[in-house]
This record gives sequence, C-alpha cells and structure tokens, in this order.
Amino acid sequence: MATRRLSRHLLVSLLFSLPLPVLAASSQWTYQGQSGPEHWAEVGSSLENALCAKGTAQSPIDIDLHHGVHHKANTQNLKIAYMRSSLTMINNGHTIQATPSGKDLLTYKGDNYHLVQFHFHTPSEHQFNHQAYPMEMHLVNQDKNGHLLVVGLMIKEGKENQELAALWKRLPREEGREVHLTGKSDPDLGRLLPGKGTARHVTYQGSLTTPPCTESVQWVVFEQPIELSHQQIERFRTLFPDNHRPTQQLNARLVDEE
Ligand SMILES: [Zn+2]
Repeated sequence: MATRRLSRHLLVSLLFSLPLPVLAASSQWTYQGQSGPEHWAEVGSSLENALCAKGTAQSPIDIDLHHGVHHKANTQNLKIAYMRSSLTMINNGHTIQATPSGKDLLTYKGDNYHLVQFHFHTPSEHQFNHQAYPMEMHLVNQDKNGHLLVVGLMIKEGKENQELAALWKRLPREEGREVHLTGKSDPDLGRLLPGKGTARHVTYQGSLTTPPCTESVQWVVFEQPIELSHQQIERFRTLFPDNHRPTQQLNARLVDEE
C-alpha cells in the first residue's frame, strides 16, 4: 500500500516537473471509440494514464448548485489580471490551444499564477445542475512550483464574441498547424471573463480532463456563461464535433462557492 502511494506520488511529481506541451503530447487517445475516455487508462505505456481510471479526484464534475455546494463568505480569494496580448494558436488534434505571449496573472488564496494556455471543448465538460453548455473554455494557469489552476468558462449561444472574433476567423483547420495573432485584433482576456473575473464561481480540487488525468489541479469554474454566436460555435464544431470527457464521480470532495 505504502509503495503504491509513493509511486503515485512520484508519478505526479514527475508529471508536474515536465513542461506543459509534454503533458499534452500523447495523441493516440481520442474522444470516441476504442481509444475514447473509457479506455484512456489503456492507451500508452502501462502506468502513464492510470489515473484516468483509478483516480478519485477527477474532472470534470456535475456541479449541483442546489445540493452539495458549500457556500463561502470569503469572495476575496480570486484576483484575475488578464490583459490584451498576442498569441500563438495550434490545432493539436484534440482542440484549438492558444498560448498568450503576455503576462496574464492570477492570484488565488495568495498564490501567484501565470496563464500558460487556453483551449476549448464542445459540449462543455463541467455541468451545472446536470445540464451541459454548448462549449467550455479552459484557461490553464501555473504557479512557480508547477501547480496548476484551471479557470473554466461555460459558453452559451448568444451574441458574437468580439474578443474571440479575430482568433475564431483564423482557427487552424489541420492538425499540427500553427497560427500567430498579433496587433490590434489580439483578444483582451480580461474583458472576456464574466464580471471581469469577479463573478460568482465554484472551486474544487480535480484533475486534467485529458490523459494523463493528473490530479492536484485547482479548479475555478464560473457560474455565469460567456457567449459565442451560433456561427462561432458551429465553426468550432466543424473542426471538433465532440471533444469532451464525461463527468466524473465527486467522491469525498467538497465544492465551494465563492
Ligand atoms: Zn480542457
């Protein structure tokens, strides 16, 4: 038992010491069929993706706002200072992932993180009260010790999203293709956030939602969705018709509302 616990600990430490592109490097897994979410633990070398099946603190989850969410009086834990910056976008075969070049900062419970990348899923991975949204945006932040904090934004169908419009017009269609965005069409990520980052949100301890499903990821999921137009959502879906992992068991975890 002790050996097993130690080896998992070593595995997690090793994963966190690797740069992010390595975490996302394995492309054998998919969202459908024999290498889909139910089989991720069997894809790759023996232990690589074990947590996808054996983990007990996995993401995404179904967030039940009526039951099981613990309301916290302290709403000062989160401060987000994202800004306008140029970025590089890549179609990595699983999603469109963008790497901003600026100093987008986030503070959570006194810990400083910087934004390393953001990407998109359809339909949403998290659910609120058993309901999925058409899409979800994940903003992946990392502190100086490699700890990850992911901000989840639900996306509903509505007005055209101006901040993402320039990026959306140039979504790279082929796997492996990179697109660089610079100039005045750069998105202002601060303006993209609901209530500019001060809106109501839930927090919980989870995992990456892609192999290797690494745990100890701090999640911050906003309750208020952002909007993309019908055409913008459809444009993403022509590239990725379904790239979501189903919801996972909450087990002993608490979900806090801040
Ligand atoms: Zn994601």
